[in-house]
Amino acid sequence: MANKILVYIDHFAGQVVPASWEAVGVGTSLAEELGGDVVAVVLGHEVEEFAQNAIQFGAGGVLVGDAPELKDYRPEPFASVLSQLAAEAEVLLFPTTSRTRELAGMVAVDLETGVIPDVVAFEIKDGSVLATRPIYAGKLLTKVVCSEKRPQILTLRGRAFPKPEPDPGRSGEITPIEMELGEITTEVTGYSESKVGVSLTDAAIIVSGGRGVSNNPQLSPPAEITDESEQEIWRAQQGFALVGELAQVLGAAMGASRAAVDAGYIPYEHQVGQTGKVVSPDLYIACGISGAIQHLAGMRTSKTIVAINRDSEAPIFKLARFGIVGDLFDLLPPLTQAFKDRLGS
Ligand SMILES: Cc1cc2nc3c(=O)[nH]c(=O)nc-3n(C[C@H](O)[C@H](O)[C@H](O)COP(=O)(O)OP(=O)(O)OC[C@H]3O[C@@H](n4cnc5c(N)ncnc54)[C@H](O)[C@@H]3O)c2cc1C
Repeated sequence: MANKILVYIDHFAGQVVPASWEAVGVGTSLAEELGGDVVAVVLGHEVEEFAQNAIQFGAGGVLVGDAPELKDYRPEPFASVLSQLAAEAEVLLFPTTSRTRELAGMVAVDLETGVIPDVVAFEIKDGSVLATRPIYAGKLLTKVVCSEKRPQILTLRGRAFPKPEPDPGRSGEITPIEMELGEITTEVTGYSESKVGVSLTDAAIIVSGGRGVSNNPQLSPPAEITDESEQEIWRAQQGFALVGELAQVLGAAMGASRAAVDAGYIPYEHQVGQTGKVVSPDLYIACGISGAIQHLAGMRTSKTIVAINRDSEAPIFKLARFGIVGDLFDLLPPLTQAFKDRLGS
């Protein structure tokens, strides 16, 4: 297969990461310019359905590595199989996830090539992919091209590229692959469930709360809460309840600033930013968040940003498309009600 474009289909707990289908779409666009086939790679156990889905989303064929040992993602066997498959490829694409950051790096080491991570746009220049990626916490975009080394390995930021429409009528070849897995030195002993609800990175809408959610001196905590820091947490819970209600009405995920996470208002899984999740929703509503550079690093590529803050000078307003200057405790209940009325939910 000339100019083979491989697309790694990332999945966890029986669900494909939706950005994998966006990666198939990018593969199809690359194939139009570079030529060659788009071949999806699905590794795991009992993953036949994912292979069928990959065809529907546009892959010309799928290579399937199915074995009980691959039921749980583990870097050594996944990287070893993928490196063998990708050795002759022109391009290897991944959706950016915590697993693929590791996997892409390991495959690049095996094949003595490089990785361009977290790509948000691309073009073809002189037969190579010229990829755009954010640097300096998203303040700048840089264009990077792989040298003559092949494959060119790219991880693609989720929701930065359109997801192709699946076509249930498409057909393509699904090919099982022979694998030599060798000794696997790690074992997955279990997973513990996170209470995040809607996944932040896949969410089309995110409503986030910052330190401001605890700032309502008029709210009096119950008499038995006498400790000041516990009173602050109690106030934050009231504030986050308002954020959560809006999120629920919009079918949104709930995000948070690091200040809110560090203060114990909400678990780390919700943190957006440089040291949290990087998100790109259609709509990001920031409530009581100042807009520190490290927070912006995680959400600046959101399509529409709305900020609610009582300080009209807050930096978040420089990035926001719509800003509401006011107290979130006053603004969120009527806003939620208005959405409820409008959406009939
Ligand atoms: C290495 C490093 C990594 C970091 N990583 C991250 C990261 O991943 N994510 C992240 O978010 N931060 C990160 N930070 C922290 C970052 O610098 C900021 O401290 C943090 O983002 C501030 O959070 P905040 O906006 O909620 O709080 P603040 O900056 O305190 O802002 C609170 C805002 O709420 C407003 N407000 C207060 N009361 C109300 C009210 N009742 N109604 C409406 N508005 C109100 C205030 O006007 C203010 O603008 C990092 C910092 C460092 C040094």
